[in-house]
Amino acid sequence: MAPALFFIHAWENHHGQAAMALYVQKFGGTSVGSVERIKAVAEKVKRFRDEGHQVVVVVSAMSGETNRLIDLASQINDEPTPREMDMLVSTGEQVTSSLLAMALHKLDVAATSYTGGQVGIQTDSAHTKARIQRIETDDIQEDLDDGQVVVVAGFQGVDDEGNITTLGRGGSDTTGVALAAALKADECQIYTDVDGVYTTDPRVCSKAQRLSSITVEEMLELASLGSKVLQIRAVEFAGKYNVPLRVLSSFEDGPGTLIVAEEEEASMEEPLISGIAFTSSEAKLTLLNTPDVPGVASKILGPIADTNIEIDMIVQNVAPAGDYTDFTFTVAKSDFTQTRSILQDQVIPALGGGELRGDENIAKVSLVGVGMRSHAGVASKMFRVLADENINIRMVSTSEIKISVVIDEKQMELAVRALHSAFGLDKDSIQGE
Ligand code: ADP
Ligand code: ASP
Ligand code: MG
Repeated sequence: MAPALFFIHAWENHHGQAAMALYVQKFGGTSVGSVERIKAVAEKVKRFRDEGHQVVVVVSAMSGETNRLIDLASQINDEPTPREMDMLVSTGEQVTSSLLAMALHKLDVAATSYTGGQVGIQTDSAHTKARIQRIETDDIQEDLDDGQVVVVAGFQGVDDEGNITTLGRGGSDTTGVALAAALKADECQIYTDVDGVYTTDPRVCSKAQRLSSITVEEMLELASLGSKVLQIRAVEFAGKYNVPLRVLSSFEDGPGTLIVAEEEEASMEEPLISGIAFTSSEAKLTLLNTPDVPGVASKILGPIADTNIEIDMIVQNVAPAGDYTDFTFTVAKSDFTQTRSILQDQVIPALGGGELRGDENIAKVSLVGVGMRSHAGVASKMFRVLADENINIRMVSTSEIKISVVIDEKQMELAVRALHSAFGLDKDSIQGE
């Protein structure tokens, strides 16, 4: 018997069929956005089961549903408690997980749906932005070993007191990668409405190109700088636990984009810039005429940090006369009003003066690439390209593998397209310099 079995295996592999593997497959909002699409997802999952693979599926809410729920809350209470928000927004994923299980049953595929809490996704109690602390995989493993497809509601977990928590917008990606890490899956596949990670958002730049692979480090930067194709925490998990992670289309077959550790990519040709991220979700605040003495930055930012508002970019000007300076920083647009009040009511009185300016119409555009490490001149070229388009740069921030500029929101898309072309990222162009 043994040699025969061996023969069958060898034959299968020879014909390109992969050996039995465990996949975690996450389907985003558009991919489960209607009954037809849920049925199509079930067909896709069935194909993997038919090939003998084990499958854990993580689903998002139907596209638009989480926003709809948030809007309902705002019509009732403009300051809903975070705990109740989590009770509310976690329902979207419960709907799609059960519907997908039903769709699988219709195809005679054994499947069971679970909430995050039911599959043991334990988080801290930071409602609306909870962090996963541990995952108990015994029950999932048992179901898988029984031949079941396990369908998990993404985006949610449960804290030590049994309260439902959610993982931040886009958090189903993190559910997927965290489950893949905990189950030691062969691959975590993020199915979405584009066929991979592009050099920039293909909806803004029609010349954007799909990348066959990108390093974890670059993907982390792109995600944190505004590319919503993957939630940043999902990329962090993938990097930390070495989860093979792939982004691919749920609508058409294709290789997608593999997120790889940097060493794996080192042999390939290293482009100067891998991608361009952009966001208009921040706002800028400036305090003019603040005293140029030790302790001022902490007096300005301390009260803001104390209210858990995150500060992103910071610029302090050199004081021309030596006594007074300007201090500028950015926060999320949603924190703008609160930050302005703190500056007005607490900081300016504490400093004994200062004039406040605010601007909500800004955008941040960032170039990202590990190739930048070994190349000078990326910043100056970026500034030249923007100057040629008459785009004024208001703030700049750099790190080893990225350069970000803050510009007028109205010029964001123009800046993205001009930089995409100038850095040789356009489809059918060869990367220059
Ligand atoms: P899902 O609902 O599947 O999680 P998202 O809307 O969260 O999908 O993420 C996919 C979207 O991310 C794409 O439709 C695209 O517009 C956007 N996106 C932004 N930057 C990129 C990029 N560099 N590559 C691919 N998609 C990107
Ligand atoms: N439904 C949640 C959101 O819209 C989580 C997700 O889709 O990943 O943010
Ligand atoms: Mg998403």
